[in-house]
Amino acid sequence: MAASNTITLLSMVDKREGYEGVQQQLEEAASHALQWARNNAVSFDTEKTEAIWLSRKRKIWQTDLSIQVGPATIPFNRSETKWLGMWIDCTMSFRQHHEAMMKGARNAQARLRRLAGRMGLVPDGVRRTQVACVQAVALYGSELWWKGEAVRGTIGMANDLQKLVNQQARNVTGCFRSTNQGELMLESGLRCATSLLNNRARRFALRLASLPQGDGAGEIIGGRSELGKRLTTWLGPDGTNDRERTVVCEEETLQAEIVVDERKKAMEEAATARDGVMLWADGSSTEDGACGYAVVWRKKGEVWKGHRVHLGYNQEAYDAECATIVRALRVGRDRRKQQRISKITIFTDAQAAIKRMQTLDVGPGQIYALQARWILAEIDCPVEIRWCPAHEGIAGNEKADKWAKVTAGQPETHGVKWLTIDNRPRRMPPVSLARLFRQVAEKKWAEAKDWAYSRITNPSYNVKCRQWRKNRPDPAPAKARKGIASRYYQLKTGHALTGMYLKWIGSREDDTCWWCHRPGITQTREHLFKTCTAWRRQQKVLWKEVRQQTRRGRDRFWIADLFADERCTEAILTFLETTDVGRRAREEDWENGSESSLEEDGDVVDMGDEEELMEVEVEGAGGGGV
Ligand SMILES: [Zn+2]
Repeated sequence: MAASNTITLLSMVDKREGYEGVQQQLEEAASHALQWARNNAVSFDTEKTEAIWLSRKRKIWQTDLSIQVGPATIPFNRSETKWLGMWIDCTMSFRQHHEAMMKGARNAQARLRRLAGRMGLVPDGVRRTQVACVQAVALYGSELWWKGEAVRGTIGMANDLQKLVNQQARNVTGCFRSTNQGELMLESGLRCATSLLNNRARRFALRLASLPQGDGAGEIIGGRSELGKRLTTWLGPDGTNDRERTVVCEEETLQAEIVVDERKKAMEEAATARDGVMLWADGSSTEDGACGYAVVWRKKGEVWKGHRVHLGYNQEAYDAECATIVRALRVGRDRRKQQRISKITIFTDAQAAIKRMQTLDVGPGQIYALQARWILAEIDCPVEIRWCPAHEGIAGNEKADKWAKVTAGQPETHGVKWLTIDNRPRRMPPVSLARLFRQVAEKKWAEAKDWAYSRITNPSYNVKCRQWRKNRPDPAPAKARKGIASRYYQLKTGHALTGMYLKWIGSREDDTCWWCHRPGITQTREHLFKTCTAWRRQQKVLWKEVRQQTRRGRDRFWIADLFADERCTEAILTFLETTDVGRRAREEDWENGSESSLEEDGDVVDMGDEEELMEVEVEGAGGGGV
């Protein structure tokens, strides 16, 4: 019966007591446990008893250590132990864990690579599977070991990870080994290792910060332990001191009817006159982080009246949208008390806020869901919260929107109040969790971009021209057929099968064009896209399309600028599809990004890769599961 039960005996080390003290404590605890077992007619299997000593001090391992459990002597385990998916070694360096995870990730990477090649996934598809199947494994548990770039000790592990990410990026884009790492990251849409690790650590800190009050794990933040200090660094000063708190509470149904119709129906409903009072609620935020909301209604069917409240500078539009619903409920409650109205209808254009009101789940905006329930308990008439579409010319919604914008942006305007409750002034709310979440999401991309830009040395790869759309790389090549996309990325980064490149890496004697065979002319990108006589017809189509898109002709474009301009991408892809530009003259299959004959590259990013991969594949066959 006791076979599947484990008892964990823990002992904290007191510096004064040292090893002997711990040994004594553990042995006492063990004899208690054995006594208990005898009284309850169970027994422990000494074979399965394990003792682990975790200490940063290596000196302690110079002697044999063990504890006495009943008749058995249990030595402390010197090798690592797997616990909740983490490999823990006795010095808590997490190196063993990291290596185990990296091995699993490389296995997954090798399998994926073969699979993606066979299935002909588009670059975007490869990227997604890479992130889901490889990075998830490699990063598992990294929150515990990653200390940040500024701290010594874990950079080596981050570098391992970067190698893996580089390879992922090459799988996504089909770029060659010699391609610059910064360009690789930008084109593949993957983020550098340090950004991945930092983001994971920040999200971990944020998860702890969102825990309800009284949860021990949340209290670690800002504590004096090493982890506490690290979490403080990850959260930043904003999140550590005064942040939105959450509580554990029992779920309670919102005593209001929620109506979210489809767009057209919702518009009709919003234009319909109703019994009782109709309130329009809207929240707004500005670029500089100011927030405000407005609740408006029409007095006697004519003049617009309302409340305008400024929320300070550390909330999100989401918070304002929630706050305004609560405020509208309060207005409704007061009206019901004074005038005995028959019904309260609140219109808002924020579906996320409506959703938040419906549950008391721990998370951003929980306080508003709670407040809504307190106010509703005081209202003894039907309440409806309805969604109405924004920017559709619905009078009440437009008014609320306009006032909310004024309130957020110009807090000193006449009629705008700073946050008050029942007209008693209150201090500004603490920084909201929604804001902390947003900050974390923004930081990861900023970091990734900085990293990539700082590594780009190629002057023809024009970073300035690059427009990042919603932090994603150009979507057109990412959705293009793998072979075309690979040639596109190769030509864009300049590390492509052109005469110039092949001569540069020493794979060809001369750099003349193998399509038009004109002596003395180097086969560059400029040549291939503009003057090579072999592709005259296709060039015409390309530049005609480019002119249509940009109003600029062939002579006003460097090829680097052409590739940097997203408006020209489709034209370039068509050009590549209709020509062999970026291929060798011989019929070789360069399309699957096979870089094998290019291994003697000049400035190689990480040479040992291919061997590493083979080694992993052998292991993979042995059934090392991920
Ligand atoms: Zn040519």
